[in-house]
Amino acid sequence: MSSGTQNPFKAITAAERREIDRTRDEEIEGLPEHLRLRVKAVPAPQRALHLRVVTGKASARLAIKAFCQECIGFDNAEIGRCSARSCRLWSLRPYQPKAAPAD
Ligand code: SF4
Repeated sequence: MSSGTQNPFKAITAAERREIDRTRDEEIEGLPEHLRLRVKAVPAPQRALHLRVVTGKASARLAIKAFCQECIGFDNAEIGRCSARSCRLWSLRPYQPKAAPAD
């Protein structure tokens, strides 16, 4: 690969990860208290998504995903198995099992 081209699939380095985490921490610290406490309560692997949602930088689809994660305890597999059919988001929730093919 030439020196001027970046490989988009290259794994990020530990230093890059620290920089991303530091930037997120700074963003979180700048939030109003009620949002800061809420985002800090999100498990680390899912915190970036919730930060995007509360700062208005996420799509409706991602906002639904974040809402479902918070509702069901941050277990993505459980979102797909959610049985609360009366919930207005039920048909829109992520991780739904694939429908069986029609015969
Ligand atoms: S679809 Fe299920 S997991 Fe998602 S918000 Fe509704 S009740 Fe919660």
